[in-house]
Amino acid sequence: MMQRENSRKQIEKACQFIPGGVNSPARAFGGVGGDPVVIDRGEGARLYDIDGNEYIDYIGSWGPHILGHRHPAVIEAIEKALNKGTSFGAPTVQETEMAELLCEAVPSLDKVRMVNSGTEATMSAIRVARGFTGRDVVVKFAGCYHGHVDSLLVQAGSGALTLGVPSSPGIPQGCTKDTIVLEYNNIEQLQQAFEERGSEIACLILEPVVGNMGTVIPEKDFLHETRRLCTEHEAVLIFDEVMTGFRLAYGGAQQRLEVTPDMTTLGKIIGGGMPVGAYGGRAEIMNVVSPTGPVYQAGTLSGNPVAMACGLATLKVLRDENPYPELEQLSEKLANGLSEAAQKAGLPYQMAQIGSMMTLFFNDQPVKNFSISSKNNTERFAKYFHGMLDHGIYLPCSQFEAMFVSAAHSEEDINRTIQIAEQVLAGVD
Ligand SMILES: *Cc1c(COP(=O)(O)O)cnc(C)c1O
Repeated sequence: MMQRENSRKQIEKACQFIPGGVNSPARAFGGVGGDPVVIDRGEGARLYDIDGNEYIDYIGSWGPHILGHRHPAVIEAIEKALNKGTSFGAPTVQETEMAELLCEAVPSLDKVRMVNSGTEATMSAIRVARGFTGRDVVVKFAGCYHGHVDSLLVQAGSGALTLGVPSSPGIPQGCTKDTIVLEYNNIEQLQQAFEERGSEIACLILEPVVGNMGTVIPEKDFLHETRRLCTEHEAVLIFDEVMTGFRLAYGGAQQRLEVTPDMTTLGKIIGGGMPVGAYGGRAEIMNVVSPTGPVYQAGTLSGNPVAMACGLATLKVLRDENPYPELEQLSEKLANGLSEAAQKAGLPYQMAQIGSMMTLFFNDQPVKNFSISSKNNTERFAKYFHGMLDHGIYLPCSQFEAMFVSAAHSEEDINRTIQIAEQVLAGVD
C-alpha cells in the first residue's frame, strides 16, 4: 500500500484555510472518496507527491501539459521573460506574436483577445455574441462545461427546451432565464429549438468534442447541423475549444472535424500551464469589442508577458515538431489496452477516444449525451481510480472527465499503464 501520510496531513491543514482544501473543486476527491494527493513537482510525464511517491500523470493539469511538465523550451522561455519583468499593463511584442500564431493556427480566428482563464473566455465570447446580434438567448448542451460563468452554469434535465434552472445557489434565476439547455447529439431537438426561438438566439455554444461529461464525440452531422442552423438563423456559433484547442489537432477540433464556427474560445494548452485564455472569431464580430466597438471587456493582467512566453513556447513546439501523429498512435494503444483490460475483467465498459483524450466509461451503453453519462457506474470507477493511484497511475479523479496523453509519455509508460490496469480491473467487481 502506498503511503500518503504527508498528503493527508497537508489536506487537513488546507481545509482549515481553503474551502475543501482545494482551489478548484475538481481537485477534491469528491467522486472517488479519500484525500487528494498533494503534489511537490512534475517532470515530463511524471508527478511527484510530498510523500516522495511517483506517478505517471494522465491529467496534465487538466489539459494544458500536452508537452509534459517542464519542457526545456518552455522553461527557457519563461526564464527569459522573467528577466524583463512580470507585468507592464502596456502592449508588448509577445502578445501580438501570440495573437498572430493563434489566428494562423485556428481556422475561425481573424482576431483574438487574450484573457486569464477559460471561464473569462466563454463569458466574454457570449457577451460579444449578444452585443453583435442584439439578441439575448444562449443555447447550450447539458453536460458541456464552459467554466463557472453564471449564465452557463445550467445543466438542467433532459426534457426538450428546458429553460435554465441554475445548477448552483448564488446564481439568480434572471441570469439563466435566457439560457436554453438541449441534449448533446440530438439534432431533432436542436432543429426544434431554432424553429421556435431562432430569431431570439444570440449564440449556440458547445464543446465540439466534449471532455466534461467524460469524452463524448459528436455523432456524424451533429456539428454540421449546428453550423447550418446558426447560419440560417444568423446566430453566432461558438466552439468552446478550451480543452480541444491544440489538443485534437494543431488547429483544434474545428480543423480536425472540418466545421468552422464564428467564434472560438481557448485556454489550457495555449497557456502551457500558466493562467491564459483567449476568445476570437471573425473580424466583423471581434470589431464590436472595446475599444474598437461598444462591447466592454478588459483585464489588468491580460496578455501577461510571462504567461505569453510560456504559452508561445508551448505552441511553437507543437507547430514545429508536430507531435500529433505520435500522440494519436500512443493514445490508440492505451485506449485499446484499457478496453481489453476491462473486457478481460468482464466489466461492462465503453471506451471513447479521439486524439490524445479519452475516457473509459463504466457503462453498458455508448455515452453520447449527459443523461447516458449520468448512468455511469461511479462506484466501479472509484475502485478503478484508487487501484491505479496506489500503483502510481494518476488519473482524473472523476468518471466525468477526460484523461490526456502527452508528448512526454513513452511507449513504456503506456505499456506499464495497461499492465497495471489489467491487474487493477481484475480486482474490481
Ligand atoms: C476547462 C474548461 C473551461 C474553463 O476554463 P478555466 O480556465 O478553468 O476557467 C471552459 N470550457 C471548457 C471546454 C473547459 O474544458
